[in-house]
Amino acid sequence: MSGRAVGGGTSAAAGVGGGEDALLRIEGVSKTFIAASGLRSAKRGDREQVRALDDVSLTVARHETVALVGESGSGKSTLARVAMRLVEPDEGRVLLDGQDLLAMDRPSLIAARRRIQMVFQDPYSSLNPRRTVGYAIAEPARVHRLVSKREQATYVQQLLERVGLPGRLAGRLPRELSGGQRQRVAIARALAVKPEVLVADEAVSALDVSVQAQILNLFETLRDELHLTMLFISHQLPVVAHVADRVAVMYLGRIVELGAPEDLFTHPAHPYTAGLIQAQPGRHRRNSKPATRRHSDIPTAELTGRGCSYRDRCPLATQICHDTQPPTVSVGSEQYAACHHAGEGSAAAQETASALSSCTAN
Ligand code: ADP
Ligand code: MG
Repeated sequence: MSGRAVGGGTSAAAGVGGGEDALLRIEGVSKTFIAASGLRSAKRGDREQVRALDDVSLTVARHETVALVGESGSGKSTLARVAMRLVEPDEGRVLLDGQDLLAMDRPSLIAARRRIQMVFQDPYSSLNPRRTVGYAIAEPARVHRLVSKREQATYVQQLLERVGLPGRLAGRLPRELSGGQRQRVAIARALAVKPEVLVADEAVSALDVSVQAQILNLFETLRDELHLTMLFISHQLPVVAHVADRVAVMYLGRIVELGAPEDLFTHPAHPYTAGLIQAQPGRHRRNSKPATRRHSDIPTAELTGRGCSYRDRCPLATQICHDTQPPTVSVGSEQYAACHHAGEGSAAAQETASALSSCTAN
């Protein structure tokens, strides 16, 4: 292992970056969900434990865009929800602009949440089907007393314009819009409370490829014009390559690699990242499915063993990977990976990528 160790766990290095001007700082966050594993076992009192987040740290600097990638079930949404304290972590801290979100009373938390807004994959989840677009956009601003009743109509028009929609759509219902238009409305609604941080959780994943590109461009334009800080979540690597300043790759509740997209995509240090890149299906195909396995194939994080969580799928795994959880090491300028075999050079990554692609082919 040639990489320089920067900490005993994922947290130390994953928290690197952002520096002094960190707007969002997630420190050593863990979350275990206890879910009933089927009706019969629930009756018996058995509960399946899922380690959705395992000692995760991440800082997002003011005006930075950090992407979270990883296949379904890796903990991306849970991390985003922890960042807004929509999920209470079992351990760790969440600091927004230096203030501890987890220590806040309700009024302070409501005020803090206005500063972070989320856009989801399915705009229907945030849009009431019986309310007009204008109502949907004005409502949060009214609740937070950012506009008076008199100013509302103009405010809605300005926001519609900002997200590239004609003002006349204010009177329409969500079902009268296309998927792309609905997502623009959801973005306008998020922007209505003048947030500093925008969390986009699979916000373009359900859209046609051509519409995806338009919405991605919109996110970039808005970020630049409104000086937003962004946490951009997607299981699709090509999507995040476009928008992110830094990419955090998640696997089973841990950040396994972190770095600038140009470094991460050209010389991934973690075999999981290499596999994700390699497994991207025909990027040229329309509506191509993401590089994830079917949900049933995806392992969930069990609370067993202290080795590397990727060891059973990893073509590079050796004994140490079974025995010891890998520390996060620096593998380049501002690139970090939690892998015993990280930093062994691009040859190892290439080897991994081809090993994985031959596995996929079989
Ligand atoms: P991702 O967004 O990367 O797909 P999630 O954060 O949604 O991943 O989920 C991480 C893991 O936590 C998954 O195994 C998921 O099933 C589990 N999980 C998430 N939320 C809950 C919950 N409320 N109750 C039980 N398990 C959950
Ligand atoms: Mg998710």
